[in-house]
Amino acid sequence: MAGESQTTRATWLDLLEPFRAEPGRTAILTDFDGTLAPIVERADEAALPEQARGVLAALVDRYGMVGAVSGRRAAEVRALVAVDGLHYAGNHGLELLLPGDEEPRPDPSVAGREHYAAEFLAALAPGRLDAVGIRAEDKGPIQALHWRGAGDEAAAEAVAREIAAEAERAGLEPRWGRKVLEVRPVGGGGKDAAVSALLAAGDLDRAVYAGDDRTDVDAFRRLGELHEAGELVAAVRVGVVSAESPPEIAAESDATVADPAGWLEILTWLAE
Ligand SMILES: [Mg+2]
Repeated sequence: MAGESQTTRATWLDLLEPFRAEPGRTAILTDFDGTLAPIVERADEAALPEQARGVLAALVDRYGMVGAVSGRRAAEVRALVAVDGLHYAGNHGLELLLPGDEEPRPDPSVAGREHYAAEFLAALAPGRLDAVGIRAEDKGPIQALHWRGAGDEAAAEAVAREIAAEAERAGLEPRWGRKVLEVRPVGGGGKDAAVSALLAAGDLDRAVYAGDDRTDVDAFRRLGELHEAGELVAAVRVGVVSAESPPEIAAESDATVADPAGWLEILTWLAE
């Protein structure tokens, strides 16, 4: 799908009718930032639109599973969404927080290596991040470097590229998002693993996933694999496509919307 134009309402109605017809067997999974909530200058100012909260609550009542799959800590996205009954996968799948859980369940595949990225960051020259306005965020096993709103975003990104190369040489895995670099232990769940883990938690054979960023492409691909393997009888990927989206989002989605309001329009229809 070319990214120039969004899917028409008639097309997505058609694509999504099979899910709305079998809500009990359907999982509705969504990224948070840039998908449910508009992107804001500072990640800590993000908020779920009030109208979305009521729609999510209605979806929880009607569908087999409603899940938020985010790069944020699972507990953080749960606090931001604040709707009972949602399933959460946080830290791009390194944490699961299911309804009733008090503490997130960490991905066992990074056990013993949770501190590697923090140690790498602590060893960087003092002031190197500050000098270009990069803000570090401690997400436990993942350390995130943000430069949205830096005085010179291009200069900040250039420093982030150097740091990514150094992280790789140090045996860590750099992953890129929208004006963010994340450094994490090699291996472990991505949003692909998160989707599998969430679907395994319910008796579901249909899934819709919406996202706007690189890590969501992993989830898109896993939905496709599960569909091909016959584990899902239907799967639809909704891309929230903006000027910042990586091209794979538009290329690998079945339907596209221009912004979180477009995705909310679809969710609202699914909830009716
Ligand atoms: Mg996002």
